[in-house]
Amino acid sequence: MNLRIPGPTPCPPEVLQAMTQQMINHRGPEFAKLLEKTTANLQSFFQTKEDVLILTTAGSGGLESAVVNTLSPGDKVLAVTVGVFGDRFAQIAEAYGADVTRLKFTMGGAADPVEVRRALAADPSVKAVLLTQNETSTGVTNDMKALCSVIKEFDKLLLVDAVSGLAAIDLPVDAWNCDVVVAGSQKSWMIPPGLAMVSVSKKAWDAAAKAKMSRFYFDYGSAKKYLERGQTPFTPAVSLFYALDAALALMEQEGLASIFARHVKMGQYTRDGVRSLGLELFADPRYASNTVTAVKVPDGVDGKALTKVMREQFGIVLAGGQASLEGKIFRIGHLGYVSTKDIDDVMSALPHALRAAGSGRAEAVKTTGS
Ligand SMILES: *Cc1c(COP(=O)(O)O)cnc(C)c1O
Repeated sequence: MNLRIPGPTPCPPEVLQAMTQQMINHRGPEFAKLLEKTTANLQSFFQTKEDVLILTTAGSGGLESAVVNTLSPGDKVLAVTVGVFGDRFAQIAEAYGADVTRLKFTMGGAADPVEVRRALAADPSVKAVLLTQNETSTGVTNDMKALCSVIKEFDKLLLVDAVSGLAAIDLPVDAWNCDVVVAGSQKSWMIPPGLAMVSVSKKAWDAAAKAKMSRFYFDYGSAKKYLERGQTPFTPAVSLFYALDAALALMEQEGLASIFARHVKMGQYTRDGVRSLGLELFADPRYASNTVTAVKVPDGVDGKALTKVMREQFGIVLAGGQASLEGKIFRIGHLGYVSTKDIDDVMSALPHALRAAGSGRAEAVKTTGS
C-alpha cells in the first residue's frame, strides 16, 4: 500500500526494526538514557532551548495538554482558525471552560496577520492565542513568522498546533516566541501514532503555575519532575520511544535544513503533478502546504468513489475531505518518509481513478503521456 494520507505516515525499515526490541523497565536506567537522548534530540528539531516533554497520547491529547496547563476557566482565548484542526483546538479550550472567540478565515485561505492584530487590539483582555501552523484539513500553511510577531507585539501566550508541520516546515520555536508547540509522532516524524511532543517556554511555565484548569494525566509540572529523574509520570509507550530514537537518528543524518528542503520539493512536485493533470488545487497557492495537498474533486466525480478506486485498484490510500469539505476535496499526504516515486504513482493512477469515479467533466482530465 502507498499510504498517502497526512498521518499516520509510513515508517522507514529502521524504525520498524527498532520497535521489535524487547521491553525494558520504564523506571530503569536504560529507559532514563533513552528519554534523555530523545528529549535532547527533539529540542534541536523544535529549535528550542526550552523544555520539551514527550507525552504518550494522540496529537489532540497534546493540544489538550497545552490548554489545561496554561489556562484557567473563564480566561479569554482568541482561536485563530483556518479549518477543522483550528476548530478542534478552539473546542478543546471551550470544553475546559475558556471564554473562546473564534477568528475564522475562509477554508483554503490562511490567517491574515492584519485581522489578528485588529482582534487583539480590540480586546486587551485576551490572555492566549491558539494558532495552527499547518492546517491539515485544507492543505494550508499559515505565515507563522508574521502571525507570531503580531502576537508577540501584544505579549500574549501563544499555543501552537504544529502537529502536521513541525520537523517538516520551518518553525523556529524560540526565535518566533511560541510558548507551547505541539507535535504528533505519526505525522512528520516517521513513527507510528501514540506520542505527542510539546515544547514549553518560560512564559508557559509561569502561566502553568497559575493555571486552574483541571489536569492530571497531562500535568506538565509532574512530567518535568519525572523527566529530571529520567522517567515519565505514567507508563510510556516504550516501543514508540525506540521508534522515535531510530527516527531521530535518521533525521539527524539528513539534517533539519535538508528535511525542510525535501518537503518544499515534495510539495512543489505534488502541486505540479496535480496541475499537470488539469486538476484544481484547493488551497490559496501562496499558502499551499508542503506536507499535504488538497485537490478539488472535479464536477461529475464522486469523491468517495475516487478514493475507493485509488485504494482498491491501485493500492494508493488518499485522504478525503473532512467536515464541510467531505466529497469536495481529496488530500495527498507528502510528509515524513516519502519519495517522488510515491507521488509519481499517485499521478499515474489518478486519471484512471477519476474516470472510473465519474462522468462528464472528469473525461476532460488528461491521462499521463497524452
Ligand atoms: C493530525 C492532526 C491533529 C490531531 O492528531 P491526532 O493524533 O489525530 O489527535 C491535530 N492537528 C493537526 C494540524 C493535525 O494534522
